[in-house]
Amino acid sequence: MSDANALEALIQALRRLPGVGVKSAQRMAFHLLQHDRPGAQTLSYALANAAQAIQHCERCHTFTEATVCATCLDERRDASKLCVVETPADQSALERTGAYKGLYFVLMGKLSPLDGVGPHDIGLKKLFDRALDGTVQEVILATNFTAEGEATAHVISEGLKARGLHLTRLARGVPVGSELEYVDLGTIAHALVDRR
Ligand SMILES: [Zn+2]
Repeated sequence: MSDANALEALIQALRRLPGVGVKSAQRMAFHLLQHDRPGAQTLSYALANAAQAIQHCERCHTFTEATVCATCLDERRDASKLCVVETPADQSALERTGAYKGLYFVLMGKLSPLDGVGPHDIGLKKLFDRALDGTVQEVILATNFTAEGEATAHVISEGLKARGLHLTRLARGVPVGSELEYVDLGTIAHALVDRR
């Protein structure tokens, strides 16, 4: 591979990142090569290592280096409650409130028919199996208050409501259209306590 090809390959690789167009990719590549070679090595190692080591938790589907994540293994947690969130970032937002002591299921996405994301892509079958393990009594739908998040919550509640589980949704108060990740902790804590 010639030098020009190595540079072009780096730019193309950077363009895989969400929101990064060709100009930004060039800027990042030039920055790393011109000003931060150690940073380039660190980034390269971290990416290769993460891509190799990180998998999905067998029980909640979040990212972990173990077969089952530390949260799922924590016996002090209330296994009768299962909170469904879209992303690990949303899970972190709920955790930071300190108001929730149950377990989680992380969809790693949301239903989005226009983008071709269907029930299979967000592991709904796995969620239903998890929710019907006999221990879970309440499923808390904590998907985002966006159109897609609401649609996802609706499909999950349709799938589970005939199965004897108590289904709740985070209370309003979390602004319509918002993603949990960006909502302040007090608001999320209230939405959890007031869920219905
Ligand atoms: Zn887990």
